[in-house]
Amino acid sequence: MLKYKKNLTSHSHSPSKFKGKLIDIHTHYKSPSPDVIVVQNLSLSEAEKLNVSDNDIYFSVGIHPWDIPKLEKGWESRLEKICEHKAVIMVGECGFDKNTDVSFDAQKAVFDNHIRVSESFKMPLIIHCVGYYNELAVIKKQFNPEQKWIIHGFRGKPQLADQLIRNGFYLSFGERYNPESVKITALDRIFIETDESKKPIKEIYQEISELKGCEIESLLVSSSEIFNL
Ligand SMILES: [Zn+2]
Repeated sequence: MLKYKKNLTSHSHSPSKFKGKLIDIHTHYKSPSPDVIVVQNLSLSEAEKLNVSDNDIYFSVGIHPWDIPKLEKGWESRLEKICEHKAVIMVGECGFDKNTDVSFDAQKAVFDNHIRVSESFKMPLIIHCVGYYNELAVIKKQFNPEQKWIIHGFRGKPQLADQLIRNGFYLSFGERYNPESVKITALDRIFIETDESKKPIKEIYQEISELKGCEIESLLVSSSEIFNL
C-alpha cells in the first residue's frame, strides 16, 4: 500500500478562486457553470481515461456496490494508482446496498479496501448506503478513521440522521431529503449534492438554507475543510 499524502493546498488554486462559488460534493456530471465547483464521480475505468490539466477539476473514484459483480482481478492496485492523480480528491462512491445480489461480506471486502485507500491517501470517503446503516456504523467504530465519512444522498429519518451524526458521519443532501433530518443536522456536518439530478445545485442550497434559517455560505463549512479554504 502506497503512503501518499494528499494535500490540496499543493494545487495551484488560491482560496479566492472559491469565493462566491457553490460546491457540489457528489455529481455524475461535469460542472454546469464556472460558479459551481463539482466533485464528479467516476468509475475506475472512466477515471483511467483521465487526462486533465485544469487545476479546478475534481473527481471521486471508487467502486459502487452495484458494480461489484463486474470487478476484475487487480482492481485494488488500479484504484490506488488512480488516487495518485491530483484531480482525484475523494474515494467512492462506495459502500453498501441491500438491493443487490452481492452478499454483505463481499460488499464489506470491497468497502474495507476503499477505507484503506481513503486513510492512506488522506482523502474523504463518499458513501452510498441503502440499508446496512447499523453495520456501517460498526465498521466505522472498528476502523476509527481520520478521514471524513460522508453519506451521500441522505434521505433517512431524523432518528437515523442523529445516530449517524453521533457516530461522526457527515450527511450530504440532494434533490430529495427528509426536511426534519436537515433541521437536526449541524451546519458543520452538511454537504450539498446533485448526484444524478439535473436540478440546479443553487436551488438545493437555497432550500436547505431556508430550512436551516442560515445563509448559503454557512452550508459550505464542511466543503471548505475538504478544499482547505
Ligand atoms: Zn451517485
